Amino acid sequence: MNIETQCLHAGYTPKNGEPRVLPIVQSTTYCFDSTEHIAQLFDMPTEFMYSRFANPTVDAVEKKIAALEGGVGAMCTTSGQAATLLSILNLCSAGDSFIAAATIYGGSINLFAVTLKKLGIECIFVDAEASEEELEKAFKPNTKAVFGETLANPALTVFDIEKFAKLAHKHGIPLIIDNTFATPILCRPFEFGADIVVHSTTKYMDGHAVQGGGVIVDSGKFDWTNGNFPDFVEPDESYHGVSYTKAFGPMAYIIKARMQLMRDFGCYPAANSAFLLNLGLETLPVRMKQYCVNALQAAEFLEKHPKVQSVNYPGLASNAFHARAQKYLPDGCSGVISFSIAGGRDNAVKFMDHLELASNVVHVADIRTCVLHPASATHRQLTDEQLVAAGIDGGMIRLSVGLENIDDILADLEKGFAAI
Ligand SMILES: *Cc1c(COP(=O)(O)O)cnc(C)c1O
Repeated sequence: MNIETQCLHAGYTPKNGEPRVLPIVQSTTYCFDSTEHIAQLFDMPTEFMYSRFANPTVDAVEKKIAALEGGVGAMCTTSGQAATLLSILNLCSAGDSFIAAATIYGGSINLFAVTLKKLGIECIFVDAEASEEELEKAFKPNTKAVFGETLANPALTVFDIEKFAKLAHKHGIPLIIDNTFATPILCRPFEFGADIVVHSTTKYMDGHAVQGGGVIVDSGKFDWTNGNFPDFVEPDESYHGVSYTKAFGPMAYIIKARMQLMRDFGCYPAANSAFLLNLGLETLPVRMKQYCVNALQAAEFLEKHPKVQSVNYPGLASNAFHARAQKYLPDGCSGVISFSIAGGRDNAVKFMDHLELASNVVHVADIRTCVLHPASATHRQLTDEQLVAAGIDGGMIRLSVGLENIDDILADLEKGFAAI
């Protein structure tokens, strides 16, 4: 099936007389005829036991997302943050380290630099544009993963997935990609050598701002028996002495994540959330195409505007990442643009406060156009000097272009500019 068809049909195929639409299985519990049957399920979890770590509605959505990314399996979580956290904890224990690009989502930076540090896991941040010799210096004997974002939020840099996949594999470790902004419609990181993909499904996948969620997808291609990951090979005493690689082969990573981490942390989404996510996924291809068309027009409009100092959108020919975007994001660069208004913070605030159609929200990648002023919101704690170091100036606005008619979106932006 092509990806548009998978968005509608993968993961759930009704049998004779069953509902056409994915049913919401609102049950924590599943019945079995015998104690012996349940005992067997504990050895080999082939059926649903308990909705803390698997549920039929969520399972169907997991299978759909795995198909979209071209992976062997997926596991949904209650948020993107939970997906990122578990993707790392499945590989790293106290005393381990991993490498992450410095230009990633701020919530991931905080999780990696502060909270994981408290758990004894060290994150080494690197400049994703550094030379290979420079990047080599970040690898240590205890390095267990490399992490980057296809299209970084909010820096909008394009990550060189192939370069980092080669580097990680040279060291016998996997590459994890946060593919939230691209979605599998615009980029499938496994095709460029990535091993694990994570998403905040809260963004484009859901698309309607109705529920938070996350997902981890396993390519099934990484060799966990290479000596660097004994937890995958040695018997897991917390799980009847199972060896994940022996029992589950290419699905070792995603089953280990479910049977160890989801079992113990319990951040599994409700069936109703998965149902809503599925509705979003059904229209994802048509929405992503239109986001790309609208955002490119908005970026071109802003680039020509006399009150705009600079525009950052890799779809623009003038952008430093344009050539790389054509390789990784040939069908478009999704709907998020950042731009700086001449005159700094005061003018940016005036502009924001005079928009009528675009909503002023702490959200992004929504069906409705929305804006955020990072200097007053997500990066509020930073001084003007720190803002500059983070690549954010007081006049910068993040614009998430929605699916309204582009003429209405541009007219609204013009109202903001008229106020300056
Ligand atoms: C929002 C976001 C996250 C975190 O997702 P939540 O669903 O808000 O927990 C992670 N990565 C990226 C790129 C994001 O934009």
